[in-house]
Amino acid sequence: MTVLTVENLTVAFGPAVAVRGISLHAERGTVTGILGANGAGKTTTLLGIHGRVRRSSGRILLDGQDVTGHDTAALVRAGVALCPENRRLFPAMTIEDNLLLGADGHGRREQRRRLAGTYERFGWVAERRAEPAGRLSGGQQQTVAIARALMSRPRLVLLDEPSSGLSPVAVEEVGDLLETITLDGTAVLLVEQNVHLVRRLCRTAWVLAHGEVAAGGPVADLVRTGAVSDAYLGRS
Ligand code: ATP
Repeated sequence: MTVLTVENLTVAFGPAVAVRGISLHAERGTVTGILGANGAGKTTTLLGIHGRVRRSSGRILLDGQDVTGHDTAALVRAGVALCPENRRLFPAMTIEDNLLLGADGHGRREQRRRLAGTYERFGWVAERRAEPAGRLSGGQQQTVAIARALMSRPRLVLLDEPSSGLSPVAVEEVGDLLETITLDGTAVLLVEQNVHLVRRLCRTAWVLAHGEVAAGGPVADLVRTGAVSDAYLGRS
């Protein structure tokens, strides 16, 4: 079942068109990849979907419902969470206060209930909840950033380069976590430069080049036809 449909998304920064007429979709209970070289438009695509940058054109459908006119806050309420590039935790704030930002707008009792669920799932996070987030390792911070996104109980998580700056072991741990997220039907749209992680997690992916979709389909096919290496080597 399709959770997210993006039709003809265009985002321009002044005269520079970063994303040009992108169409893609993501399915329930799966991780869908977005691949491409630096500057291909991956981050802008996620920000455009989440209403964080102005779209020049494009329709966004969530479970078939048109949410194009929704601002970011309304999209979060509708079940779309963004886990941004570089994790964007507040390093001086406690882990708990960072997590609570993910359940902003809910009553205190509901926030507590969601925190309890998070602590049940991530035992080590519970133990360290009063520590500043900046004290954690990169991999731990990524886990907390994902946990914060999950605090909004999303049906779709937009996840930007979770492997960035992490050790190989930490990348595999993030991969383990992403596999568990989809088990309850949650969809993940994953921007990644780490092809190994995409091959591990994603059945399908979209390859972006110069702000456009250069290829899309089963990851195995994209690798076999050379679409993935072309994108990274700038041949698309
Ligand atoms: P990376 O892997 O380097 O993050 P990306 O595929 O995510 O790359 P984007 O960050 O989406 O690419 O950038 C796409 C293009 O839009 C680039 O040419 C970039 O310089 C430009 N761009 C992105 N954000 C802005 C902005 N706020 N103002 C002007 N240009 C921007």
